[in-house]
Amino acid sequence: MESKKLYIETFGCQMNVNDSERIISMLSVIGYSRTESASEADLMLLNTCSVRGGAEEKLYRRLANLRVHKKAKRELIIGVGGCVAQQEGENLMRRLPWLDLVFGTHNLHLLPDLVKSAENGEKCCEISFIDNERRLDLFPLVLGERSVSSFVTVMQGCDNYCSYCIVPYVRGAEVSRRSSDIIEEVTALAASGVREVVLLGQNVNSYGLKTEGETDFAGLIKMVATVEGIERIRFTTSHPKDMSDALIECFATVGKLAGHIHLPAQSGSDSVLSKMKRGYGREFYLKNIGALKSARPGIAITGDMIVGFPGESEEDFEETLSLMEEVRYADLFSFIYSPRPGTEAARIPESIDKKDKLRRLEKLQELQRGYTTENNRGYIGTVQKILVEGGGKLPGQLSGKGESGRTVNFEGEASLTGTFADVRIIKAYQNSLLGELLHTSL
Ligand code: SF4
Repeated sequence: MESKKLYIETFGCQMNVNDSERIISMLSVIGYSRTESASEADLMLLNTCSVRGGAEEKLYRRLANLRVHKKAKRELIIGVGGCVAQQEGENLMRRLPWLDLVFGTHNLHLLPDLVKSAENGEKCCEISFIDNERRLDLFPLVLGERSVSSFVTVMQGCDNYCSYCIVPYVRGAEVSRRSSDIIEEVTALAASGVREVVLLGQNVNSYGLKTEGETDFAGLIKMVATVEGIERIRFTTSHPKDMSDALIECFATVGKLAGHIHLPAQSGSDSVLSKMKRGYGREFYLKNIGALKSARPGIAITGDMIVGFPGESEEDFEETLSLMEEVRYADLFSFIYSPRPGTEAARIPESIDKKDKLRRLEKLQELQRGYTTENNRGYIGTVQKILVEGGGKLPGQLSGKGESGRTVNFEGEASLTGTFADVRIIKAYQNSLLGELLHTSL
């Protein structure tokens, strides 16, 4: 029987990317194979993100565009999952009666049954939260085609309730997967040729802290490092308030742990950090940065910043710029504040107009462009150990990442994919490096 076609679009963070891999894997069991062409689809799913303002309108616009396919093929099933689905639920079905399926962030495991019901013409909306241990078993192993690097979800949800953030409301309470399940998944991935794992969670630093008898995150990293075949370990995202000495020590002692950490500060001003309910101050943040740089000299530090938070004065904003000067981020993701429904900050009247927010964002990004260029130029002449992921920017080129997570393109044979290559960096661009192959190490 010819397989049915699944067309899936993923928005937002790596957690959503990993969830989409799970969705593709689960639906392959009930006869769906992935297609990149919307017009070929029998089932169309949007895995959504609601972290920024305008997420809902963006989704409605995208669905309006995709509706043409439903007009062309009546039996086409269209569904929405992820954080906007969790946030909007039945409202989505009410506003778009032609939608067939809405599923929440805790209900991926129900998708095969929900799709079967939709195939029988039923309308399904399933967004119930599962806030107990049973949720741990809802992470089916991702089967099928793997690249040399793979995401592994180690925990889901967040209990921090930063005042601007919608994640705890759409992803639920923090739950850490059993380390035994994680090691089982990593071992299976290594057996299928994966050499690098990226441990995922909204706040991986608090892994295991609320689970009786479970190891903490430093312990988990050391466990993953014992899995044969796994040569490099990365993780994201960390919350500065949960940085432990044990985790920092891992950067000094666990050779397989990549020399890169993503540590979002969000602001450099203590008064803004307290309004954001981040749970740490500027000094504590910088102390951890200092400890990380001593534990792993040359470590690449990336971060996130929000500008224009209600009440952020020009002086507060200058504190953010001066923090960047002290940290010298290798890269920085920066956004203007936008109120999210149901969050504490959404009840604080906005005090900065759009024009000023954009001016601050531009000034911050211009400063960071200088640090990123300086950081990239620092690699010229050095030899980097690159995990070769596949074809590069130009014909005849390969591409992969070094410890820092920066993409490196260099000339080489495709047969090197999946191996580690020593590459001398000869040129630096804004978002990537150019190198020349020295030799490979299997
Ligand atoms: S730590 Fe804060 S910003 Fe991050 S997901 Fe949790 S609530 Fe959101």
